[in-house]
Amino acid sequence: MTTKDKRFPLTLSSVVEKSAKAERAGPASRKVATPQTATQNAAQNVVRGRTNESPSPMTARTPPPAPIAPRSTTLVSDAVRGAMVARVAKQGVKDAKVLAALDAVPRHLFVEPALASQAYIDASLPIGHHQTISQPYIVARMIEVMRANGNGGVLDKVLEIGTGCGYQAAVLSLVAKEVYSIERIKPLHELAKSNLRPLRIANIRLQYGDGMLGLPQAAPFDGIILAAAGLEVPQALLEQLSIGGRLVAPVGGRHQVLQLIERIGKFEWTNTTLEDCHFVPLRPGVV
Ligand code: SAH
Repeated sequence: MTTKDKRFPLTLSSVVEKSAKAERAGPASRKVATPQTATQNAAQNVVRGRTNESPSPMTARTPPPAPIAPRSTTLVSDAVRGAMVARVAKQGVKDAKVLAALDAVPRHLFVEPALASQAYIDASLPIGHHQTISQPYIVARMIEVMRANGNGGVLDKVLEIGTGCGYQAAVLSLVAKEVYSIERIKPLHELAKSNLRPLRIANIRLQYGDGMLGLPQAAPFDGIILAAAGLEVPQALLEQLSIGGRLVAPVGGRHQVLQLIERIGKFEWTNTTLEDCHFVPLRPGVV
């Protein structure tokens, strides 16, 4: 909680208050959280809630005008996100730190307003330029696998390939000390910057470039996550893993599998195939 406080100074007012409020709301808030009503609730929340989001910590704490019911809308948003996290847990993600991180990041702020009503269903959604925000389950699963290292889940430096809208980078910022994220499409790099700015996350570094080359100047990384699928994992990324580090990547063309690659020595890596998945393609170069 304390580290979260530091990393989300702005939204934290809502995050910090949330547990108390959610407890008060209790079963009632969970009862409404079927996918359909979650969608409707999120829609309502975003229509009203977005106007309550403010990039300034000062105004964020200022009570909004009377007709808006901020407490109930925050509760709805929290409850819908809580239901999403519960579904992800039910699908098999067990790592409590990952689930808490998923619970803390307002996913609806990473999709365009027209799609915000769907932000908490377990699906990938378009973010423009033929790319998608990843499905919450797979975001959580990849981070869980990356954290299952020989170091008790401690991650000093991690690298994400494929920033997209910045959602997974925000989740990663709550489980790693430093997060580097590379995006090859300039407008998406800019989108991620503007999505992340109001959250004031101090430990994310966004980079515009070809992630297939990695980020040698910041290597080695304890963890690397690819959010796009290549036919194989680029050698440069394997070289930029620390010994004991874990890389999680979708690999394949039409049929893709999630792979875990662990570096066990200077010249030695192990490879484990985990489950089927579906990601946008990893492409070389920048646009
Ligand atoms: N991480 C995102 C998912 C983005 S989708 C989330 O939080 O939901 C995958 C992204 O990978 C796309 O934005 C795509 O442009 C990007 N991508 C594909 N190949 C890349 C490469 N070589 N380097 C960097 N980004 C790449």
